[in-house]
Amino acid sequence: MPAEPQTPAIPSDPAQRAARAEELRHQIERANYEYYTLDNPTLSDAAYDALLRELRAIEEADPELLTPDSPTQRVGAKPAQGFATHRHPRPMLSLANARNPDELRAWEKRARSILPDAVFTYVCELKIDGLAMALTYERGRLVMGATRGDGIEGEDVTANVRTVHAIPHELAGDNIPARVEIRGEIYMPITSFEQLNQELSAEAAKHVNEDGTSPAAKLFANPRNSAAGALRQKDWRVSRSRNLHFFGYQIGYVEGMPEPVAQTEALDRIRAWGFVVNPNVRVYDDLAQVEAFCLEWQQRRFELNYEIDGCVVKINDRHQQEELGVVARDPRWAIAYKFPPIQATTVLRAIGVNIGRTGTLNPYAVMDPVNIGGVVVKQAALHNEEDIQRKDLRVGDTVLVQRAGDVIPQVVKPILEKRPLDAEGHPLVPPYELPKFCPACGAPVRKDPDEAMAYCTNPIEKCPGQQLEWLRHFVSRGAMDITGVGDEVCAALIAAGFVHDPADLYSLTAEELATLESFKEKRIANVLASIAESKTRPLGRLLFALGIRHVGEKVARVIADTLQTMDALLAASAEEIGALPGVGPVIGESLHSWLADDAHRALIARLRAAGVRMDADALAANNPQGPLSGQSFLLTGRLTQMTRTEAEAALQALGATIASGVSKSLNYLIVGADPGSKLAKAEKLKIAIRDEGWLIDLLANEGRDSHAPEPREDEEEYENGEEQ
Ligand code: NAD
Repeated sequence: MPAEPQTPAIPSDPAQRAARAEELRHQIERANYEYYTLDNPTLSDAAYDALLRELRAIEEADPELLTPDSPTQRVGAKPAQGFATHRHPRPMLSLANARNPDELRAWEKRARSILPDAVFTYVCELKIDGLAMALTYERGRLVMGATRGDGIEGEDVTANVRTVHAIPHELAGDNIPARVEIRGEIYMPITSFEQLNQELSAEAAKHVNEDGTSPAAKLFANPRNSAAGALRQKDWRVSRSRNLHFFGYQIGYVEGMPEPVAQTEALDRIRAWGFVVNPNVRVYDDLAQVEAFCLEWQQRRFELNYEIDGCVVKINDRHQQEELGVVARDPRWAIAYKFPPIQATTVLRAIGVNIGRTGTLNPYAVMDPVNIGGVVVKQAALHNEEDIQRKDLRVGDTVLVQRAGDVIPQVVKPILEKRPLDAEGHPLVPPYELPKFCPACGAPVRKDPDEAMAYCTNPIEKCPGQQLEWLRHFVSRGAMDITGVGDEVCAALIAAGFVHDPADLYSLTAEELATLESFKEKRIANVLASIAESKTRPLGRLLFALGIRHVGEKVARVIADTLQTMDALLAASAEEIGALPGVGPVIGESLHSWLADDAHRALIARLRAAGVRMDADALAANNPQGPLSGQSFLLTGRLTQMTRTEAEAALQALGATIASGVSKSLNYLIVGADPGSKLAKAEKLKIAIRDEGWLIDLLANEGRDSHAPEPREDEEEYENGEEQ
């Protein structure tokens, strides 16, 4: 369990306490302004929440210090100038937070203490990290779109709201009230946010300052800020171009029709009026199930293409809601279960460079260690020189760092407001440039203008940096999976000159290993045994382990499973490889030219001579008689009746191939819940898209008789390579 950040001790001296409260208010007000008005926070949410918590603790300890205008008592910030204001007929509140199951239970206990005899039903929703909106419809027509503002008055952004496709201009259905306010969240999909930041930096790069540098792009910290920025544009055309979406989740008020009796009814009505309601709403009677829902989404949040920062738990019954009422700025009948933060700020101390196995120079950030949601982060990949220059990262900058699930941490942007400057106000550190010589072997670095990556010009035999990465990849999980040979051992083997390429591993001797630091008899025996054991890996694993450009784990498996032997692969042309399901010409060409290289052929011969297996597992997938042979499938999203691996195995058993990605040659994309970006890509390429029910029928039917599914007419067309 990640440690919760500690709230600093409350000063015991009253004067010091008052001064600290004043200081905190000042900092919070400033952060509110930057966040709500400028859409450009300089604090991470976690740092902001910590300030607010500290102020709340001081005010609780010393109620004299609690003033009605304290940020703990108010919501958001005043509407920005330049927009007409809209007074909300009913205030738009915030939500109290729970940060762990204990705080969730404490919330429920409080509600129960007010309504001891009540039976609660809970509606669990995702907490969309966007911008709250109040949309007013008169006789079914959209007349007002307003931001929350300070909860009392918001900004009138009606023209911009009209450009959001998911917001109907007219309510659907017959049951239209005289007037209704729909509340919900405007958000920007993660992919659109990333694209927007790229466009902003490309735009900045077009301008050149007097000193030849480009101005730093003002990047958005997260999709929430970019959605807010996009919506609060003076020109609605800009809003339109920003791909905003909307989920409806509440009826603010309704006239000319009874109020909904429950949150579930409100959601049904909102849906019937033509809004998108988030599909992951669940209703439970038991708080333990609510807790499980929150914990489940804490894990699964990264599956979504929009950010959520928690779950919202609402007591369903409206009468109970009214009886529970509101305290300060939060209703008592709802709570936000907040997830641990994924962003934090820290200081960039250095930019290091690793050499990749193909000779690429891979820069990475070295930062002051920072705890992000319970994990200490001190390094992050920086991809390439352009990326660093695009974000304008400079050593010494305070940077916003993000950790999304298992994904390697990313540096999102520098906080330009905190950049160290010289006496004249110029940055102390110039824009970053990659070294001109390989840091591992000293060879000159080559960079083609139209390529993102720079390369060491030495061949791998002469560059220990490349050898190290190659070896690390070869022994890694998913590749040859050689236990006991971690990063440090790889580095030691290369430094000692025992290993230059993966084949050398198989001729390592006990005597050689004994010369390495802390290698005793038992460890030597274990390492040699696991090296020997790795010789039995099937061809797909070996192919992936060889570290050939573009040949990822799945592609390698598809190729190996289809061609079955290394000899068949060595004999195949680039076109033949490229024509395999889900492979394509780029991979075909890359793999073929790698295999055609004499040095690589010699390496394969040495591996073969060492006894490394050169064929694939005999899978049913390669049974050409299978009813689905010749058909390729790819799965995305979560299945409910079986795991993805089970589904893939079942398809393969019927002769189908599992493609490695969406390409024109894919026959079917099977879509489960919360599909990833593959869905959009498949739609674009007009690939046949099927759901789990269809898959189950297919597996049942094809398991019985032996008819491959008939492609639809339009599918045949794309099969011939025609995109419509
Ligand atoms: P909040 O975001 O914690 O919760 C309330 C909001 O949740 C509602 O207004 C609504 O917009 C949203 N919401 C999303 N899904 C919902 C659903 N299904 N049902 C109901 N509401 C839903 O509270 P807040 O007052 O809007 O914002 C405070 C937060 O904003 C802080 O905790 C902090 O993380 C962030 N903030 C950061 C800075 C900074 O400088 N980094 C400054 C100000 C605020």
